[in-house]
Amino acid sequence: MRRAVIAGNWKMYKTIAEAVEFVGKLRPLVAQADHCEVVVAPPFTALRAVAEAVKGSRLAVAAQDVHWDKEGAHTGDVSPAMLVEAGCTHVIIGHSERRQDHGETDENVNRKLKAALAAGLTPIVCVGETLAEREAVKTVEVLQRQFQGGFAGLTPQDFSRIMIAYEPVWAIGTGRTATPEMAAESHRYLRGLVRQKYGEELAGRLRILYGGSVKPDNIVGLMAQEEIDGALVGGASLKADSFSAIVNYRRA
Ligand code: PEP
Repeated sequence: MRRAVIAGNWKMYKTIAEAVEFVGKLRPLVAQADHCEVVVAPPFTALRAVAEAVKGSRLAVAAQDVHWDKEGAHTGDVSPAMLVEAGCTHVIIGHSERRQDHGETDENVNRKLKAALAAGLTPIVCVGETLAEREAVKTVEVLQRQFQGGFAGLTPQDFSRIMIAYEPVWAIGTGRTATPEMAAESHRYLRGLVRQKYGEELAGRLRILYGGSVKPDNIVGLMAQEEIDGALVGGASLKADSFSAIVNYRRA
């Protein structure tokens, strides 16, 4: 049985003060959520303050990106060790907004993934097709390419520490959610790729989260799919009531 994970990606929202206030509200609302792990991903500036504010709670803290080098002349970037020092245990890698806005490639995803693992972080690696790719019936091809490139050269031990987030780009921030069946189909395909490469046991343990307009009113249907092990939530993770309703999907 895979333990569910609900992660909130705050993107470029919340000042430090807003972030701390938010987790103060969220903590009691998710205190009974024993059925899942809960992760929040604030912007870089608020990581340290949020990590302090969630101490002793069930909340874990993720960064939204990372550089692969330990240090160097990379203006605007942050290293894995810096994230650990700030209190992160997780890091989102390869989000479609980074792929679109910053030209993130599968090769870069792979370098970031390996560096994050080496620093002891748990990577949440995002994959997913655009609308044009889905309409051209290329979803499987895209997922295969992202998997082969992004996850190249990982040992089984490395792989056992990763989570994948399947996020069809056309469903992110658009209000268009993939149906639970559509999401489950892609999750099944991804798990099949993992099975081919790493075998049944690792494939069976891998947690694959769905992301794309997850809301309190669709989380129950999504989580009813055996293939869906959690959610990466954007917009609905910014308000304590909607995010806690998603986290508490089983107790509704
Ligand atoms: C995301 O940011 O990863 C995401 C899925 O956003 P939203 O829930 O707003 O679609």
